[in-house]
Amino acid sequence: MACFEVISTDSHNAARRGALTTAHGVVQTPAFMPVGTQGSVKATLHRDLEQIGAQIILGNTYHLYLRPGDELIARRGGLHRFIGWERPILTDSGGFQVFSLAERRRITEEGAEFQSHLDGARHLLTPERATDIQARLGSDIQMVFDECLAFPATEEAAAESMRRSVRWAERCRARLLELRAGPVEAVTVSNPGQAQFGIVQGGVYQHLRNESADRTVAVGFEGYAIGGLSVGEPSDVMYAVTADTAARLPADRPRYLMGAGTPEDLVECVARGIDMFDCVMPTRNARNGQLFTSQGRINIKNARYAEDDRPLDPACGCYTCRRHSRAYLRHLYMAGEMAAGALNTLHNLSFYLDTMQRIRDAIAFRTFDTFRQEFLRSATRLSLDQ
Ligand SMILES: [Zn+2]
Repeated sequence: MACFEVISTDSHNAARRGALTTAHGVVQTPAFMPVGTQGSVKATLHRDLEQIGAQIILGNTYHLYLRPGDELIARRGGLHRFIGWERPILTDSGGFQVFSLAERRRITEEGAEFQSHLDGARHLLTPERATDIQARLGSDIQMVFDECLAFPATEEAAAESMRRSVRWAERCRARLLELRAGPVEAVTVSNPGQAQFGIVQGGVYQHLRNESADRTVAVGFEGYAIGGLSVGEPSDVMYAVTADTAARLPADRPRYLMGAGTPEDLVECVARGIDMFDCVMPTRNARNGQLFTSQGRINIKNARYAEDDRPLDPACGCYTCRRHSRAYLRHLYMAGEMAAGALNTLHNLSFYLDTMQRIRDAIAFRTFDTFRQEFLRSATRLSLDQ
């Protein structure tokens, strides 16, 4: 299964440098996982992801289950072989997508019934089914099926939802142990070394987060995620809940903050004890022309870049920055060329992955505190356009 080792820690805060060993190799942490929703990180090739240092990518169970189908992928030998990616993969449980379908889903204790966004067909996703689907996909890390609450939620709603998520986590773990003891009829296990992470819920109520953390840890998983944050709550609330929840999780297991965030969020949450991140922000924003640089953010469609011959980010060594000017990138964007999405995505992901590398180096050299202060000073300039 997965094994996690803490290599060094920081004396000023909860940051830690670690290594997570999976069935498809080692992930150096803190790590950022680019989101490969449908078995592809949008507007990039695996070749480029490898070249810019992506150690692990994320796949979305909801999308892969509906199309092309987990059984088809299992018949192709699992997700790694099907998509031609040999490094680690984490799959989410599908919960987040199902819960965001709003009026097209119905939740019961059994699971979540929903209508496909593709053809309107009805499906029932249960903790056991979400576990089976991810076993067929054969990711290195599968996530438990949990209930994702919208923000803001009342304390009562958050408590009820969190307790249901704990019961679902117990069912997910029981099912995975059955599959490991296997064989189980109709479930092809594509990756026998697959690990499973539990998810802590509880909204912004710390006593609920504590209860969720304690009960999820009692079930026993190879790692733990903090879910239900980065959904619209203020940053200081997210940071506070992250700090207190991470501190309650076992030190010898990886901690994954789901769905965060901006480059500043990554640095701030590493300082609060987080080891793994995923977010669509670098890829989605790239396709919309919003670029992250060492000097702040750039909206490439802004007219001021029309005759700007400088590289996007003079401090960045990615292909986009080595080869092209802001003027050309703006032209491609305005002309609707597909290369705009590709070049912008390559840069934004390079920026995120480079930031993680710098964080890892800083923790190892015991200079993370200084790095953090300098990073926030440049990042909080926010936008170069104003
Ligand atoms: Zn670049």
